[in-house]
Amino acid sequence: MNVPLLDLKAQYQTIREEIRKVVDEICDSQYFILGPHVEAMEAKIAAYCQTPHAVGVSSGSDALIIALMAAGIGAGDAVITTPYTFFATAGAVARVGARPLFVDIDPVSYNLDPGALENTVAAMDNGTRAAVKAILPVHLYGQCADMDPILDMARRHNWVVIEDAAQAIGAEYKGRRAGSMGDFGCFSFFPSKNLGAFGDGGVVTTTSAEMDQRLRMLRMHGMEPKYYHRMIGGNFRLDALQAAVVALKLDYLDGWTSGRQANAAAYRRLFQEAGLVQQVQLPVEVQNRHIYNQFVIRVTHDRDALRAWLGEQGIGTEVYYPVPLHQQECFNYLGHGDGDFPLSEQAATQSLALPIYPELSEAQLAAVVERIGAFYKA
Ligand SMILES: *Cc1c(COP(=O)(O)O)cnc(C)c1O
Repeated sequence: MNVPLLDLKAQYQTIREEIRKVVDEICDSQYFILGPHVEAMEAKIAAYCQTPHAVGVSSGSDALIIALMAAGIGAGDAVITTPYTFFATAGAVARVGARPLFVDIDPVSYNLDPGALENTVAAMDNGTRAAVKAILPVHLYGQCADMDPILDMARRHNWVVIEDAAQAIGAEYKGRRAGSMGDFGCFSFFPSKNLGAFGDGGVVTTTSAEMDQRLRMLRMHGMEPKYYHRMIGGNFRLDALQAAVVALKLDYLDGWTSGRQANAAAYRRLFQEAGLVQQVQLPVEVQNRHIYNQFVIRVTHDRDALRAWLGEQGIGTEVYYPVPLHQQECFNYLGHGDGDFPLSEQAATQSLALPIYPELSEAQLAAVVERIGAFYKA
């Protein structure tokens, strides 16, 4: 049985007519950049994320860059983050001229470990400690990082808190939504995210009216009023088409999230019934609203052989992420070596994402588990 990692066509079929109607409307209007569809999307996202403000931008990567710019982070500054994430998290820090300062993950949640954070800060020299201006936790795979100790540390040290919530729209931490806890929340509408556009797009949420204004200015080259530039921004604008698709899809998001959660529950039952819970460690729900952008299992050996075998059987999987950021060539200048962040390095060799999209059938889920069982029998 064929089980792709993700099947966006299945979702599109359910909303095809509605989407085509709004796309047609925008084509007729010939109004393509920012404007009423972007404003409407921003209001809906702000309400959904339980934040006062949301600003549509060109991608999730740009959401991170523009949040850092709005916070005034730049050359000479350091930003604490995790090495076990998509490249853009630390890439954005470097792009604004600041230095990423990595802290290892908690191996159960895969998110930045508050204990390791305490130790890292305690071991810093005064110069480094003074350079740290922000912390950028990631809510990886759809589950929030342990935010209370992170927010507490940030308050004590006067750091800006920027949540990388690209994989976590609608996820919750103690009843609070991803993107509503820090000063900024950064979201991506890349098509493979839980709320995907028909191209690139993103949004920044913020609790501050002042930052909302700065973000709006920065996304248009720092321009206010027209052709007067008070700061150097960039072109971080969002298309009306993308905003309209996202706004429309948002009405379905909770239903799709329930579908992902139901699939995760089905996997748990199927792995249990197959007697595979020794060989395969299942994801742990540490926080109470995990939105399962990914369902990531962990195997202690032969991960790559398992992945190759599943591929031969028509089952799509992915490794998020094979190389932690401190081991990326472009970050050689940070001076890290193998073993610096051992829990991230171990996760990189052991983790494997299985198909979890909401339209999967019970038979497909069963086939994935059955094929994994067959691999371990062989
Ligand atoms: C997808 C993603 C991004 C970047 O979003 P784009 O829209 O692809 O630029 C940033 N951080 C994380 C954790 C992501 O998963």
